[in-house]
Amino acid sequence: MEEYVLNALSKGFTALGFSCHAPGVLKDNWHMREEDFPYYLEEIDRLRTLYRDRIEIYAGLELDYLEDTDEFVGAEYQEQLDYTIGSIHLMQHAKSGKYLSFDGPIEDFETLLKDNFDNDIQQFVAHYFSLQEKMMANHTFDLLGHCDLIKKRNTDNRFFDPREGWYKKLTSHLLKSARKQRVRLEVNTGGIARGSVKETYPSMEMVAECAELEIPLTLTSDAHQSTHIDFYFAQADDQLVQAGYRNLDVLMHGMWQSVSLV
Ligand SMILES: [Zn+2]
Repeated sequence: MEEYVLNALSKGFTALGFSCHAPGVLKDNWHMREEDFPYYLEEIDRLRTLYRDRIEIYAGLELDYLEDTDEFVGAEYQEQLDYTIGSIHLMQHAKSGKYLSFDGPIEDFETLLKDNFDNDIQQFVAHYFSLQEKMMANHTFDLLGHCDLIKKRNTDNRFFDPREGWYKKLTSHLLKSARKQRVRLEVNTGGIARGSVKETYPSMEMVAECAELEIPLTLTSDAHQSTHIDFYFAQADDQLVQAGYRNLDVLMHGMWQSVSLV
């Protein structure tokens, strides 16, 4: 974690937020273990004190929404945090009852598609977007995480073409719901950094629609290594301006504030 702070300092950051995958019922190798959470907060606190004069450091978590129980994993930690991200990575596999990620191994994506949706990709994608709407309706958080993550395994439009009308209808519906619920979205460059996708989450087509709806956005790197904390930020800034944005939301001096992009 200190390596991230040092990288942030060398890149001229004035603030940095950590947002590990929240601990809780999901016991796998990418969610924090419950017993590690106190250390996480202590270490953030130590770094915050150590670098107090040079950078602001924020403690966050990325919370997972579970479709079967409506649980927002990690919500009980919210009071101890500066910010949270609400995300969906998992669906419950109908046959086994296990949670499978649609942004992880392609086999899991294909298993969900086959067993839960009878190989109907439109239903699969529609279900993904509807889960995000449920999460927004039932829970509170600061940022909606990577809101078109379902495209991650769709390399070369292998499963669907996002330019088609049915897909646009789903993304429009999601964005209108976000607008109604006053939800802030992140523009996330992590998929590009890790070579999974060639564009941000969400796509710039969606960002242009966000601009029309005046949905507040923030720019995030979702970095899994310290050198990626500003990956693609310069390009994303340009694209955001082109899509119609003049301001971005940032967490600064303990408050979400709108700052000028131009
Ligand atoms: Zn995520």
